[in-house]
Amino acid sequence: MTSNNRKQIASFILQRMEMGETEWFFKPDTDFPRRLDISAHAAPSKHMLLAKEKMVDTGKVVHLQHRENECTGKIIDEEVITDQENLNDLYTAVCGCTRCPLGATRNKFVFGAGNPHADVMFIGEAPGADEDAQGIPFVGRAGQLLTKMIEAIKLSREEVFIGNILKCRPPGNRDPKPVEIECCEPILVRQIELIRPTIICALGRIAGQTLLRSKSSLGALRGKIHDYHGVKLMVTYHPAALLRNPNWKPQAWGDLKFLRREYDGMVIG
Ligand code: SF4
Repeated sequence: MTSNNRKQIASFILQRMEMGETEWFFKPDTDFPRRLDISAHAAPSKHMLLAKEKMVDTGKVVHLQHRENECTGKIIDEEVITDQENLNDLYTAVCGCTRCPLGATRNKFVFGAGNPHADVMFIGEAPGADEDAQGIPFVGRAGQLLTKMIEAIKLSREEVFIGNILKCRPPGNRDPKPVEIECCEPILVRQIELIRPTIICALGRIAGQTLLRSKSSLGALRGKIHDYHGVKLMVTYHPAALLRNPNWKPQAWGDLKFLRREYDGMVIG
């Protein structure tokens, strides 16, 4: 075994321990493709197929650019949103949004980032201080843990799409207000229409309750498949909650394995 092999195994074990897993065994892992089996994907459009083939062939993943200098400053409305035919156009149309008061207090608009044709979307409630400063979702300590959670199920940040219900930070990281959600959710819905994910993972109680219009507890929302605008949706812990309460990591790891099983069943099965 080379020193590089040893480093990879050590990194793997540390990652699983970080997720709260205390026991593991090794076996050939032939059931877990690193990349999607495109031929078996449920009826993708030609456009999606080409994009994914390109990603698999070249290993190159499309990143969304946060092009502040291209912001139009338009005040969004439903018609503007539904006019857009790709995520970059949608971003350009909405990045100057002031439809709710958060548009006046944000530093940076946080549209979301990742693969514009992702099969898996992770959606939190709203940007925090780090995200507001950088314009990129989940970049602080919670973001680093989210990256580990994604990698634990053999995906990468570049393969999935990560975003929030609100695109601007609520002051002091307070919970989103109903009026803010009402103003901002159409952007998320249009993102989902354009990305056409196979499954959405809502991060945390607030995201789960808001998307599902539910008052159920996180425990009641977890462990099952819901429907969000025709897309399968599951709910797990917000990584920030896992940082505060590491004892929840084993349950979160169970949720992630559930997500991976559902994803494999839909994409490959
Ligand atoms: S939170 Fe959403 S609706 Fe409110 S200003 Fe930001 S982008 Fe617009």
